[in-house]
Amino acid sequence: MTLDHILPKERGGSDSWENLVACCQECNRKKGNRRPVEAKMPLIRRPKKPNRIYYIRQFVKREQTAWRPYLYMEPLVLDRASA
Ligand SMILES: [Zn+2]
Repeated sequence: MTLDHILPKERGGSDSWENLVACCQECNRKKGNRRPVEAKMPLIRRPKKPNRIYYIRQFVKREQTAWRPYLYMEPLVLDRASA
């Protein structure tokens, strides 16, 4: 995966989350220095403001398993027998 600027940087596009989407290398190369409409490559999804949870996730260490369900990294399994 690559990061593609919806409005290319050379044409004034910023590095903001509103202007960045994930894109495979082949499509990124094909789109080149064009806007999606010019390249006839409409966005599959509109960019979405990142959630703080995505930021916090990167600091969770492998052994900190108790945090993982609360950061939606794995399902929360409640042990009903001990409750
Ligand atoms: Zn692609």
